Amino acid sequence: MHARPGDRTRAVSRSPDRKRQRKAIAARDGARCFYCGCSFPDLVGATLDHYVPRRLWPGWRQSNLVLACDPCNSRKADALPWPFAWLLLRYAAADPALYAPAA
Ligand SMILES: [Zn+2]
Repeated sequence: MHARPGDRTRAVSRSPDRKRQRKAIAARDGARCFYCGCSFPDLVGATLDHYVPRRLWPGWRQSNLVLACDPCNSRKADALPWPFAWLLLRYAAADPALYAPAA
């Protein structure tokens, strides 16, 4: 089966592995959207979202996954969540030499 643009969440929800991951994440975080807090009775409507975008941290590690409702998942898309970006900026500000261009 080939994924088409826009089929990402539907393809995820059909996969047994992804279903297991959604259950495990619900046990870890609660059965609600990580971003808006809406609840997912029986995990209906729950999608898996890569907290750090997959382009930056490839794979399906559970530590990088959260449950999200479809609107929140679509809204976030491939963006880096602001709290995570803020931490990176703080880290860079604490030691600018880490990010200085190579001489
Ligand atoms: Zn949401």
